[in-house]
Formats: sequence, C-alpha cells, structure tokens
Amino acid sequence: MARILLKNLSKHFKNVKAVDSINLEIKDGEFTVLLGPSGCGKTTTLLMIAGIYKPTAGEIYFDDQLMNNVPPKDRGIGMVFQSYALYPHMNLYDNIAFPLRAQKMKKDEIDRRVREVTKNLDIGKLLDRRPFQISGGQQQRVAIARALVKRPKILLFDEPLSNLDAALRSYMRAEIKKLQNDLGITTVYVTHDQIEAMTMANRIAVFSMGRIQQYDTADNIYNYPSNVFVATFVGTPAMNILNVEVKNYNGEFYLQDENFKFKTLPQRREIMAKLVEKKLKLGVRPEHIKLSLKKTEDSIPAEVYVLEPLGREVIYNIKVGNSILKVLTEERMDLKAGDRIFMSFDRNKYHLFDADTGKAID
Ligand code: ATP
Repeated sequence: MARILLKNLSKHFKNVKAVDSINLEIKDGEFTVLLGPSGCGKTTTLLMIAGIYKPTAGEIYFDDQLMNNVPPKDRGIGMVFQSYALYPHMNLYDNIAFPLRAQKMKKDEIDRRVREVTKNLDIGKLLDRRPFQISGGQQQRVAIARALVKRPKILLFDEPLSNLDAALRSYMRAEIKKLQNDLGITTVYVTHDQIEAMTMANRIAVFSMGRIQQYDTADNIYNYPSNVFVATFVGTPAMNILNVEVKNYNGEFYLQDENFKFKTLPQRREIMAKLVEKKLKLGVRPEHIKLSLKKTEDSIPAEVYVLEPLGREVIYNIKVGNSILKVLTEERMDLKAGDRIFMSFDRNKYHLFDADTGKAID
C-alpha cells in the first residue's frame, strides 16, 4: 500500500488553471474523496495521480518515491471509470484477465487471481457472459475486479456510480466502502455527489476553481466548514446564508440584518467585540432553525412560502423580509403557504464568515 503526497501540484490547459498549486497528503490505506462541482479540477488531479496527465508544475510522491516521470503502467494503480470501459467483444473473464495477460503472467496464476477477485465481488458465476448481458451494477463490479486483479497499491475511481439509478447507487456505495475497508488499499475517489463523499470517505478534499478549499473528515467539513463555499456545497438543503452586522446594544452583542436581530451567547462576547460593525455572512443550517406559532423573546416574524415534504422530514421555505430560508424538521405543523409564524436560530449552532473573503470566523 502507499501514501500519496501532492506538492504544489498544478495543471494548466492554455490559460485555464484546471488545478492550481494544490497540496494534499493521503495516508496509507485511507479513502479520500475529491469533491466539487463540475469543472473544479478533481478529474484532472486524479489523472495526474494516474500518470495520464503530466503536471505543469509540482510533484507527486507515492510513499517517498517521486512519480512524475513514472509511466502509468508502472505506478501500481488500478482505475475505475464512470463509463466502466469494458471491452464489449470479450466475455467478463477475458475483460478481467486482460491486464494480467498484458503483463504476460502465467495462465494458472491468472486463473487463480480472476477466480479470487470475482468471488469477492459476487460475479464469479457470470464470467462467460459479455458486458451487454449483465446489469449496470454488475458491469461496475467487473470494472472494479479488473482494477483489483493487478493487486494495485492505489485505487482510483472517477465518478463510478454516476450511470446507476438511485437504489443501485446507494447499494454500490456501501459495497465499495466495505471492499475498500476489507482490502485497506489507499483510494482516491472523484465525485460531485456530496452524499457519496460524506458516506464513503475517511477524508474529503473539497475543490473549487482548481483549489482545495478544505481537506478534513466528513464530520469536520459539515460542522466546521472553512469558508462559505464549503458551507453551502456540503449539506442538503444547503446552509442558509444571510448578510449581517454585529451590533453592541448596552454591552450585549447582537447579529443583525434589516429584518431581525438576535442576541449572541455571553461566551462569545470576546469574539463579538472584535467584530462590531463589520460586514459578515451568517450561516445557519436548515436543521438549526426552529419554527413556532407563538412569539418568544428571541423569535423573528416570518411567513410560510412553500412546503417540501420528504416523508420523514419536511423542508419549510419561509420568508423573512426579502430572504427565503430553508428549515428542515421532523416536526409536523399544520401550515400552508401564506401563514404567519415565528422562527428562531439555535444560538449554539450558527457560523460566521467574513463577507469579503468568505472565510470562517467563528
Ligand atoms: P467534471 O466533474 O465535470 O469532470 P472536474 O472537477 O473533474 O469536473 P476537470 O475535468 O478536472 O473538472 O476540469 C477542470 C478544468 O480544466 C475545466 O475548466 C475543464 O474545462 C478544463 N480541462 C480539463 N481537461 C482539459 C483538456 N484536456 N484540455 C483543455 N481543458 C481541459
């Protein structure tokens, strides 16, 4: 197995900085997800690790070995693509055996390895079939088997579940995670799907515009986002963001916008004192807003805009001044569009960001 180290790694295509001087250490045996919207540079990063793209600048190390000039076939990697890239004219056995035959491995060793890997992936009984005679989920397993049969030190996945329906995607998500756990192979997995990232990764690298915005565990990324981009990209529905200022009224610190003000907790006094009159963005997750029919000391008047029932939970879209906020709750309230209600923020659970840089403050 191997540790992967990316040092000041960049890839430019003419004037596009697809990857812009990133640094990343993926520990031996870890499952890292590269997460971000379309065009943010995650696939380009994966293809540089694979050796398919040559970096414009920077270094790639596997353990302590510099890999920049090592050809893809000698990197000890296995790769699984979104398209599966199976050979349609070959049966599954031949598809999986292909990379070993290319290495001129002995026939019985090839046979032993193909049987072993396909047994683990539960496709051992399908080996005579051709790719068009099996389901999408089974094709994905064949692609994984072909990547694993070489016994790689590193596994690379590029959006492998994008072509599957929702149920199969959720099933394969758990299967790939289990497999990676059992094998302990260092894995880099590219996706734009935050649920895949959150559920599968040991650590997530959130990308935007060719740069890594945050590299951390799913829990830390969710609970302590480093900036507005990460805060709003991870979490469904997305975090609510409001423009606020800190105000000092008689020694009490408030977060205020044109429609509301709410008092911050005394333990935040020191931080708040430094932020008075500064322009900030207040971030509140939809599950940290409470709705009520009655006015309380801290509550803010609002109006129900629209409801989105999800079965177990409901998303209430509520209007506060000109802003629409999303509130996620399991509580059923007998509300309809146009009803007047009150909302309050959880005073322990909000986030503050610098309005200019977007960076987290508190
Ligand atoms: P997606 O999920 O859509 O694949 P991504 O995050 O993987 O997005 P990349 O494919 O890495 O993004 O692309 C990053 C940027 O580099 C984009 O602006 C893209 O248009 C550009 N780019 C990628 N590959 C090439 C190429 N071979 N030639 C020119 N520009 C490229």
